[in-house]
Amino acid sequence: MNDCIFCKIIAGEIPSRKKYEDDEIVIFEDIEPKANVHLLCVPKDHFAYLTELNDRRAEMLGRTFSKIASLAPSFGLEKGYRLIVNQGDDAGQTVKHLHIHIMGGQELPF
Ligand code: AMP
Ligand code: ZN
Repeated sequence: MNDCIFCKIIAGEIPSRKKYEDDEIVIFEDIEPKANVHLLCVPKDHFAYLTELNDRRAEMLGRTFSKIASLAPSFGLEKGYRLIVNQGDDAGQTVKHLHIHIMGGQELPF
């Protein structure tokens, strides 16, 4: 049984404010935004860590970065943005399903 909250969002079992979806990723608003724009880009493939990358996942992540770059202006990020991938406890990773924080919409103070 998969208890992963992001898998449940992907499956539509938990609501989210979805901004984009294709066959590989979903992008939705972070429920506790830490910037004016704070989105989460989540691969539909469940894995937690970059150590679990294989060729297929690495290629998927490459396409994902390109997709984020092309979508950024439509998210209000014309002036720039920051991408964060938390890995493990010291980084404060709370959801063990790999995700990319997309933050901006303001001059980031950190
Ligand atoms: P991380 O610390 O990198 O694991 O980040 C997990 C992020 O997921 C946090 O910024 C949370 O606010 C966010 N989050 C947790 N549950 C939800 C949810 N149901 N919908 C949207 N974002 C969520
Ligand atoms: Zn998952």
